[in-house]
Amino acid sequence: MKVAIIGTGYVGLVSGVCLASKGHDVTCVDINLEVVKKLNHGIPTIYEKDIESHLKKSIEDNKFRATNNLDEALNLTSIVIIAVSTPSSNGSIDLSYIKKVCQELGRYIAKTDRFIAVVVKSTVVPGTTDTLVREELEKNSLKKLGEFGLGMNPEFLREGNAIADFNNPDRIILGYETDKTLSLMKELYEPWNVKKITVNTRTAELIKYVNNTLLATQVSTVNEIANLASSLGGIDIMEVIKGVHLDKRWSPIIDNVRTYPEILKYHIPGCGFGGSCFPKDLEALRYQGNFLGLKMNMINAVLDVNKEQPHQVVKMLESDIGSLSKKKILMLGLAFKPETDDVRESPAIKILSDLIDKHAFVKAHDPVAIENFKNNMKTISKEVNFINNWRENVAESDIIIIATPWMEYSSLADCEIKGKIIFDAKRAFSPEYFNSAIYRSIGMRV
Ligand code: NAD
Repeated sequence: MKVAIIGTGYVGLVSGVCLASKGHDVTCVDINLEVVKKLNHGIPTIYEKDIESHLKKSIEDNKFRATNNLDEALNLTSIVIIAVSTPSSNGSIDLSYIKKVCQELGRYIAKTDRFIAVVVKSTVVPGTTDTLVREELEKNSLKKLGEFGLGMNPEFLREGNAIADFNNPDRIILGYETDKTLSLMKELYEPWNVKKITVNTRTAELIKYVNNTLLATQVSTVNEIANLASSLGGIDIMEVIKGVHLDKRWSPIIDNVRTYPEILKYHIPGCGFGGSCFPKDLEALRYQGNFLGLKMNMINAVLDVNKEQPHQVVKMLESDIGSLSKKKILMLGLAFKPETDDVRESPAIKILSDLIDKHAFVKAHDPVAIENFKNNMKTISKEVNFINNWRENVAESDIIIIATPWMEYSSLADCEIKGKIIFDAKRAFSPEYFNSAIYRSIGMRV
């Protein structure tokens, strides 16, 4: 099947190479010429496990190409997927990228006799596809819905595991407004043997938001309780969580074996959630609710806790050792989570900013995200000494903060850490792991 994908970032590129690997003929469109050039040379523009081999293989098989020319991508295509960004703008969703794409698509639909189904994959607030997207397509094509198709297929991939997630999704949501669109989407996902749910487009849109909201709620709830444990003292929140998790509703016993569902990972306390989805998606849903006259108290609370949570790191360090002025601090990790180079809304940003405010001397490392961080956080970056070899800098540091638990940081235990403070901001390691050091984390106070 011939598919065009508009917007070739984390979602567009991963979707593109995965659909190509299932035999579809994919053309990815991006306005960034640098992205287009690199991809056509088989060079990935994002850091993601297995992306390079998938990209190279799909180019070799002549199943994947990139272009900045929309007309070229749409030639002979009957299904087009929109995967441009939908960032937050003062708390509301910025739909300008979606709108622009729909205007261009509408103008193309105006001049073709072919039926084209437009499927939104970007995360958009409920009611976007059947209002804004539909209206822009109708206005610019001078055709009515039915003469073109409309669908909404939210994406649930997680950066760092994106290819595996796309290839083995838990379910595929097929939101549609016309039957012909549904059959095209079914054909597209025919190679996926997984539960497919068919709903209208605004239901599909809300499924994505509720998924993220419930997950983020777990994180903020545990973080709030962890802060209480830190303030009380004499409690390690992880012991509390372990006790809670023995409840069979959290960890069911199946055939006499206790199982530990992945949701339990969302109960590990830390410096808050970041990334390109949770913060902006919750903000967008809150804004929509407020606009409709709803208070959205739960989402407010989840976001409020999360906004403050990165500040716990410096707050706890100060209450432990006093002033951080002139302290030599080694910050390990900048990406919002391991296995990605994405620094959008990373808690590391606030932690670094706090350390700079406190006049600490900061060195920072990340295996892959330094360049992204420098490009996106120019002011903070001026005050930070970025390093490539973190092990060489352990001995001279007073405090080591693990902000992103990359696997390679587990070898910190083999370095000269005696007497140093190790602040494990994501509770990635157990305290015994760093026996010779002074281990600190959110949710415990010695
Ligand atoms: P991104 O910023 O990585 O990629 C967007 C791409 O679209 C960029 O390369 C940009 O150059 C391109 N673009 C912008 N305007 C364009 C236009 N008019 N024509 C062609 N290309 C254009 O964004 P992303 O992280 O891939 O997210 C895309 C959408 O998917 C968002 O709505 C996001 O919320 C959602 N989503 C993201 C993830 C994730 O983990 N990143 C997961 C699920 C859903």
